[in-house]
This record gives sequence, structure tokens and C-alpha cells, in this order.
Amino acid sequence: MAVERRSTGPIDLHTHSSVSDGTETPSQLVRAAAAAGLGTVAITDHDSTAGWSEASIAARTAGITLIPGMEFSTRVGHTSIHLLAYLFDPSDAGIVAETAHIRKARLTRAEQMVARIGADYELTWDDVLAQTTTGGTVGRPHIADALVANGLALTRSEAFAGILHWEAGYFQPHYAPDPLRAVALVRAAGGVPVIAHPATRGVADVMAESRLAALVDAGLFGLELRHRENKPEATARLTMLAVKYGLAVTGSSDYHGEGKPNRLGENTTSPEVLERLIAEGRGSEPVYPD
Ligand code: AMP
Ligand code: FE
Ligand code: FE
Ligand code: ZN
Repeated sequence: MAVERRSTGPIDLHTHSSVSDGTETPSQLVRAAAAAGLGTVAITDHDSTAGWSEASIAARTAGITLIPGMEFSTRVGHTSIHLLAYLFDPSDAGIVAETAHIRKARLTRAEQMVARIGADYELTWDDVLAQTTTGGTVGRPHIADALVANGLALTRSEAFAGILHWEAGYFQPHYAPDPLRAVALVRAAGGVPVIAHPATRGVADVMAESRLAALVDAGLFGLELRHRENKPEATARLTMLAVKYGLAVTGSSDYHGEGKPNRLGENTTSPEVLERLIAEGRGSEPVYPD
């Protein structure tokens, strides 16, 4: 816990491992982060904390600080909103129940999407399962990997631009809680919530100020405004709102290993914001190197 044990170096608070849709195991991910010269990395798999213990062990020996986290799926109508959650209690009953519900819904949804794709293309549910890890969070990236394995796309990105794009007609949403409920759950579990890539949809579709204000009242800590998918105009609008509501601003890579072009440390968070985040986190501890 002592400040002097904290590693110096760039801070990247959003990465994925094979527990969800990253291509590296939690320990490979942590070692890659150390090799990239980062001082602090957060593991933030979708709707799962299953990578925390392996990542913690790897961080101690790799000489990097680990912030345990998760990217919580939430939804308002047709709009998917991702909520980064840090330093919460992974055994909190509310979080455990809600994330189990989401993972189950993701699995059913993926199976239904694959059934519909399989009617038109050479793709089976077993092909997709072969791309997942046991107990991991299943998503469209695993369907993409199966499409690549079957020669129906060259890369994940090509699959997303084609068969998996909502316009192709196979897309289906899955259950996810309202972000207001997710923010409250994260705070109740001692965690610190930050909206992931909040400016990806252009300035006309930026979250309504009234909704943001309600999330702030529920305990929202910050906005991930430095992220490659955020659009400049929407980011400018949200930067103003962050100032108005006293929200912290974070930056991160959203690294998925070879699953996405995003590189570790391509966007970073300031040490001051990390200090505040650690000070507010009460459900679990950062892992400092030995
Ligand atoms: P899902 O949550 O199952 O709908 O899948 C969305 C996930 O796919 C997000 O977490 C993204 O990180 C990932 N994703 C979206 N677009 C791409 C892409 N072009 N290449 C690789 N992964 C992507
Ligand atoms: Fe992802
Ligand atoms: Fe996301
Ligand atoms: Zn992510």
C-alpha cells in the first residue's frame, strides 16, 4: 500500500485477457504490459473477474502495479454503454449475481446469432466454442475468430465490418443492466466506476446531460476520454461536462492482444487521477510488485 512501493511509468487502465475477448492469458497480458514499459496496468475483462488472481501473481514478479478491474456491460434501450469498474469486492453478492446473469445472456445470444449465421455460412456453435476459454465471457469477437478459422473473414476486424455488423442482419443484443444500476452496484461493492469510451458515437449521440448528472449522483468517478474510438467533437462536449460535474478523466488503450489494433500504453491516465482512484477504491487492493 505504501506510496513508495508504487511503480513509476505510464498508467493504462483498460485491457482484456482471454478471460473475455483478449488473445493473451492474464499472465501473458501482465508480462506484455511490463515489457511495454508500463508502470501500472488494469485488467478489465468484460463482465468477469476470473483473471484477477492469475494477473496478481504475474504482476508481483513482473514488476508492475496491477489494478483489478472489469468492464461491466450496461444498456439503455439499443445503446450499449460499457462501465469500467475498479477495486471493487469481487465476491460482492450483487456484482456476482449481475455478472453471472450477463454472461449467461451473452452465451444464449451468441448461440442464437451463430444459429442464424450458420443458416447462411459454414459455421457451427462448436466452431465458436473452440475459440473460447472455459468459464470465460463470450462475445462477438469469438464468433469473429471462428469465422476467421473457417476462412469466412481474414481478421476479426473484417468479420466485424461484415457478417457481425448490425447491418448484416445477424446482430442481436443481450441482456445488460441500466448503467445507473451498475454504478450503484459498483459503489456498493467498494468500487470506482468510469464510463468506457463514452464518445464513440458522435456529438449528436452523446449521453444526455441529465443522464450523466444522474450517474454522477449515483457515484460515477470519471470518463475515459482518451481512447482511440472516441470522436473529437463528442470528446470536446464531454470534456466540458467532466469539468462541470467534477469528473476525473482517464485514458487507456483497450488492448485486446492480437484481437484489435490497440497497443498497450497508446493512451494513458495521469498519476494524480490514479491516486484519487486508489484512494476511493475500498473493495480490493492494488497489487504492488515484490
Ligand atoms: P459484443 O460485446 O459481444 O457485442 O462484442 C463487442 C466487443 O467486440 C467489444 O468489446 C469490442 O472490443 C470488440 N470489437 C468491436 N469491434 C471490433 C473489431 N473491429 N475488431 C476486434 N474486436 C472488436
Ligand atoms: Fe472487448
Ligand atoms: Fe468497451
Ligand atoms: Zn474494453
